[in-house]
Amino acid sequence: MAVLPIYKLPDPVLRQEAREITEINGKLQRLVDDMAETMYAAPGVGLAAPQIGLSQRVIVLDVDHENIGKRLLKLVNPVITESEGEVLWEEGCLSVRDYQAEVLRAERVLVKAWTTDQKEVEIEGTGLLAVALQHEIDHLNGTLFLDRL
Ligand code: ZN
Repeated sequence: MAVLPIYKLPDPVLRQEAREITEINGKLQRLVDDMAETMYAAPGVGLAAPQIGLSQRVIVLDVDHENIGKRLLKLVNPVITESEGEVLWEEGCLSVRDYQAEVLRAERVLVKAWTTDQKEVEIEGTGLLAVALQHEIDHLNGTLFLDRL
């Protein structure tokens, strides 16, 4: 595994609509493992492929850094299928230097995605996990938290 460089604003890759993954293979699995290592090293609770310069629909998240890896999520082609409630949460971003701000997000989301072992999953998130899912999926659409202030 390897820690990859994180792309920062104003890199244009952060503003692109990322492509759907059409094949889950060993190369993708290695990439996602590198993304997880990069996220933990930063450290951050989530990382989207555009942040390592790849315009592809893959994210990793782990909101529990007390137990590294235990709740690690690696999601391919994630889509938010339900969202409800509102929560104001202070966010930062590994691609935006030295800036945090409160963002209004849904309090609960349901996300459909594929895992790197080709299983379709549904993830329900509330609180920090809901916020992180929305933040990372935004990255796949070229949206940064700054756009939601
Ligand atoms: Zn971010």
